[in-house]
Amino acid sequence: MQGHFLYYKFALMEKILNYIDGKLVDPIGGKYIENFEPATGKIYSMIPDSDERDVELAVESASKAFPAWSTLSKEKRSALILKVVEEIENNLDEFALAESRDNGKPVWLARRVDIPRAAKNFRFFATGILHFASESHSMEKTAINYTLRSPIGVAACISPWNLPLYLFTWKIAPALAVGNCVVAKPSEITPMTAYKLAEICAKILPPGVLNIIHGYGHKVGSALTSHPKVPVISFTGGTKTGADIARVAAPMFKKLSLELGGKNPNVIFADCDFEKALSRTLDSSFDNQGQICLCGSRIFVEKPIYEKFKKAFVERVAAMKVGNPYDENSRLGALVSKQHMEKVLSYIELAKEEGGTILTGGKQVRIDGEYKDGWYVEPTVIEGLAYNCRTNMEEVFGPLVTIMPFETEEEVLLYANATEYGLASTIWTENLTRAHRMANEIHSGIVWINCWLLRDLRTPFGGVKNSGVGREGGFEAMKFFTEPKNVCISLS
Ligand code: NDP
Repeated sequence: MQGHFLYYKFALMEKILNYIDGKLVDPIGGKYIENFEPATGKIYSMIPDSDERDVELAVESASKAFPAWSTLSKEKRSALILKVVEEIENNLDEFALAESRDNGKPVWLARRVDIPRAAKNFRFFATGILHFASESHSMEKTAINYTLRSPIGVAACISPWNLPLYLFTWKIAPALAVGNCVVAKPSEITPMTAYKLAEICAKILPPGVLNIIHGYGHKVGSALTSHPKVPVISFTGGTKTGADIARVAAPMFKKLSLELGGKNPNVIFADCDFEKALSRTLDSSFDNQGQICLCGSRIFVEKPIYEKFKKAFVERVAAMKVGNPYDENSRLGALVSKQHMEKVLSYIELAKEEGGTILTGGKQVRIDGEYKDGWYVEPTVIEGLAYNCRTNMEEVFGPLVTIMPFETEEEVLLYANATEYGLASTIWTENLTRAHRMANEIHSGIVWINCWLLRDLRTPFGGVKNSGVGREGGFEAMKFFTEPKNVCISLS
């Protein structure tokens, strides 16, 4: 009876399918993983628990599709990808709701940021490919060299749960546009919009050009990255996973792009535009519940305005509404999983043990009614910690920021550069010379001056130190997904 009930319950739930060889299919092993809705803490769909057999089929299918896709004219590839864009845009609300339900982020945020950006990623590279050119190098009267850039083959694209469709498409789009075929794995924690994308692509792209396999990283992810017929891997996720993948890929000489963790500094000088710095710091601290790799989790404020900034910041943070993601007034929604919520709460405890004072927040939020078991945490501001304590060194990836004063540029550079990460940094100052000086001295792949998360998709995107290897974006991505070959012609 119990078994029958369970069968009935699961039969009613939406079942996500793999996308292999142009078809939406069950995993070969027939096993599924429960997919939770962060807003309620309840299971709401089933995800394929795929394994190496599904990966094998997908790689085979991608390899088979590669000769035709890679030699299709770029205009035709571009036109097909632009049809995918059209379908995403036609279904914006449905995608936004699916993203919010799967991830816990406010639906307004998914509608305003995640889904439009996913469409933009495809459009950017579908049109970018029409302008992509290779170099030639003249040796005066002796010879001329030219560079051929060819697609590589089957690319593995692996992405995390924080910006599910946004980051998934950021990899897939350039890989496909330049002529590779792709086997992609979204995070098993947030698979829904990748599935919705597969439903669209199944109607538009030739079979095998894009394959999407769902399941765990240690099964699907590692079968994919260790596959001998996958010569190129683009990965975004945690630093530890990145190191595991690098260990597998290096002896196989695979081309590898790693976008990893961050612990970004937000440096606010006394001569900043106070209101602008304040309001954007609220966003850079708590957008997407602080679960953006580019969030500024360490706020350093120059002493003359420290107390004023702290007071205004804490007041505004305390007024932020944490609520169910479907409420347009919720500033913060739910965290992505129970496990992640517990990790964030454990860092709040650690901060207290390390001598920190909670200025606002610090607790789990319980919402009455339908959402009572959801995973909500108050936006939290902590003061009084040493710059090099664990709370200030380790990535938390949640609605938790620390705030501390500084007196000189040298001092704040010491603080800012103290972590093992180097993804992004933000600097607020009206002093132009200082802004350039700081940008030069700070250890990060991206520096925002008097702004945050202002993105031009042509710019190189990525981090230094343990935040990754390689750059995404613009021609960098198109170069990554192609293999250069130099041809030298003698003129004598
Ligand atoms: P993880 O590293 O845990 O997972 C990322 C992806 O890798 C998931 O799809 C995961 O599968 C998969 N994976 C796990 N193990 C392996 C393996 N051995 N081989 C291949 N694939 C594997 O990261 P999270 O999903 O927890 O994402 C959060 C992290 O991502 C944070 O550290 C954040 O900073 C970083 N990030 C970096 C960005 C950047 O641009 N630099 C942008 C956004 C996030 P599974 O489904 O099982 O988890």
